[in-house]
Amino acid sequence: MKKVRLLTLFVILLTAIALAIGCGEKKEDEKAAATDSSKPQQTFVTIGTGGITGVYYPTGGAIAKIVNKKRAEYGIRCTVESTGGSVFNINAIMAGDLEFGVAQSDRQYQATKGIADWKDKGPQEDLRAVFSIHAETVDLIAAIDANINSLADLKGKRVNIGNLGSGYRQNAIDALEANGLNWENDFHAESLKAAEAPGLIQDGRIDAAFYTVGHPSGYYKEATSGVRKIKFVPIENIDSLLAKYPYYAKAATLMKNYPGAANTDDAVDTFGVKATFVTSAKVADEVVYAITKEVFDNFEDFTKLHPAYAGLTKEAMLTGLSAPIHPGAMKYYKEVGLQ
Ligand code: GLU
Repeated sequence: MKKVRLLTLFVILLTAIALAIGCGEKKEDEKAAATDSSKPQQTFVTIGTGGITGVYYPTGGAIAKIVNKKRAEYGIRCTVESTGGSVFNINAIMAGDLEFGVAQSDRQYQATKGIADWKDKGPQEDLRAVFSIHAETVDLIAAIDANINSLADLKGKRVNIGNLGSGYRQNAIDALEANGLNWENDFHAESLKAAEAPGLIQDGRIDAAFYTVGHPSGYYKEATSGVRKIKFVPIENIDSLLAKYPYYAKAATLMKNYPGAANTDDAVDTFGVKATFVTSAKVADEVVYAITKEVFDNFEDFTKLHPAYAGLTKEAMLTGLSAPIHPGAMKYYKEVGLQ
């Protein structure tokens, strides 16, 4: 328990640092912009991310850090917000409450086509892709004492499938369906935010939890560092998912990132998606151009900001996108020959 608390403290500290990098000074800036006409006009943009122990939150921080360095040149001030995840971010961007957000590639596809969570609302015509970032895997962790060795063993257990605004909730539902399980009937499903799940599994309040995230993540470090022993459970019958959904790919979760996990194999089989950076057609071309240019022109520095970006290439950052690419981003890709 002590270890978990220490980790939580560590995460809070990291959050404070990320906030200091990404946010801060907004009020002073607004005041200065309003009173000092010699300064370039300030544009404030907010990036929606995910829970603070995920990888979206530091990803928003990494993008904000790179862009805010050139504040004098562009007049753009980027701030980062912790949110419920992909679905929340896309909907908030469409509502004009956020300018940018990180969202799973499968969610970008579904919103663009008007399926899954967007079945009632229809295609999100104004959703625009900027670039993709790290790979994410869909994982199930379970407490060793709950005797869960496959998805079929979830019957009758308490399982977090994710909050409604998250991207991973649908991944959990799809994985369950591929293994003949229904979340409404076969077990006690919880709709918790990702940040809460590691603490609750350690406290014995839930037996297992799904999450879709890049690696390494604070979430799994926290979940696997407590007294209650935790393991990653392989997700079977993936072929039926791949045949049905164009946005899923086979993947493996590497255990070297989580030495506290009880697994003995190097990797656990599963499926995955990509984290993507999205915006709205209503966001100005100059703003999207500036952000794209700064991230790509400072690619080496950017990839050092989180270990989940290891192995990332500029070319790969233009894959996994299903919404139209924003014209501001496209202008940059054409200039440098990436399109
Ligand atoms: N993929 C998760 C979601 O959209 C968020 C992961 C993260 O925050 O890194 O729900």
